[in-house]
Amino acid sequence: MEAYFFYFFENMALIIAMMYLGLKAREYLAPNMAESRKAPLLNGLLTGFLAFAIMYNPLLHEGMRIDLREAPLYFIAFVGGWLPGVIAMIIPFIYRMMMEGPTVWLGIMQAIILPVLIGSLFHDRKNYRPPYAMVNIKRMMIGLAVFEVIKSLWMVASTPATAGMVLMMALMAAIGVLALGWILNDTHLNIIRWKALEHDSTHDALTGLPNLRFFHEQVRELKYRGVPMAIVMMDVDHFKNYNDTHGHPAGDAVLRSIGRLMEESARPGDVIARYGGEEFILCFTNVSSVERSFELADALRERIEGYAFYGADQQPGGCLTVSLGAALAETEQPLDELIEQADRALYESKKSGRNQVSIAKLNAEKEAEQHYQVNA
Ligand code: GH3
Ligand code: MG
Ligand code: MG
Repeated sequence: MEAYFFYFFENMALIIAMMYLGLKAREYLAPNMAESRKAPLLNGLLTGFLAFAIMYNPLLHEGMRIDLREAPLYFIAFVGGWLPGVIAMIIPFIYRMMMEGPTVWLGIMQAIILPVLIGSLFHDRKNYRPPYAMVNIKRMMIGLAVFEVIKSLWMVASTPATAGMVLMMALMAAIGVLALGWILNDTHLNIIRWKALEHDSTHDALTGLPNLRFFHEQVRELKYRGVPMAIVMMDVDHFKNYNDTHGHPAGDAVLRSIGRLMEESARPGDVIARYGGEEFILCFTNVSSVERSFELADALRERIEGYAFYGADQQPGGCLTVSLGAALAETEQPLDELIEQADRALYESKKSGRNQVSIAKLNAEKEAEQHYQVNA
């Protein structure tokens, strides 16, 4: 009995250690693996290998090979369903066939097929949220108990295994599976929280747009790489009037809609953000002429003017509009200076009647050149 205990104890320890190592390896060496479409295949194969490692050094009892291969097989099928479950069966199945002995088929049915079958039946498809799925520990343990009862009775009835042996096996398998569930949940919860934190610290809660800090980081990087760009500042016209007329919640809804319109207008590579209050900022990338930056900014202005915001007809002019100021980046120019120029251009737009785009004045020699281009 003592020998069984330590034998299964070793199996259990191997299962827990390999699970921990596997999850850490994924986290540090292949962080995109979990999100890849090949994940079920890889998870299945790795679990199959783990089952094989457990089977490699078996407890031999009257020609039987006894081990805890059932634990990882049940677990993978419970967590991921049929597909990774069946894939996980491949290696242990082939290995058990090769090892021969009087109980080959019983071993395959009781400790390879049955755990995958019952694991898949208890797999919670409705609440399964890959890549960072959380397992329902209670449901997992109930499924395992069902499996263990069927398997233990079947084993005692059909093989030379003793009741004490199968009881010890079931107990150790339960501890192993429980530990797997806890390790997986801990790791996934950490990743989910970390991702949420990262999102919250780089995005604005009201509009869901990136925040100014994220904008700075991204645009500094683009500037460093020498990407030609234009910075555009945008401010909602007469927004105080809108809030006073329709209330703050309606004003918030307008800001959210504007955020969505900006997202829809942005081209791949552009960076957009909420600057604060009812002001927004954009970085149009791969733009190197004043005309192009005007075109892009004006297209956004038109789009917002044409959008049917609730109660827009009560705004001055009969619609809800924005004013914009754009500044074309010069090489070696600090981002803060560029934003300041765009802001001054925005002020020009406000001064000249709102619902328009103004372009920042360039420095002297560039101005002459651009002036020529505008008139050409
Ligand atoms: P202008 O055309 O000159 O820009 O006029 P304005 O009324 O938009 O300008 P002002 O800066 O005086 O007012 C901005 C208003 O934006 C005041 C503030 O209540 C409102 N505002 C700022 N942030 C938010 C927000 O998160 N939600 C709502 N609903 N309103 C906001
Ligand atoms: Mg403002
Ligand atoms: Mg305003």
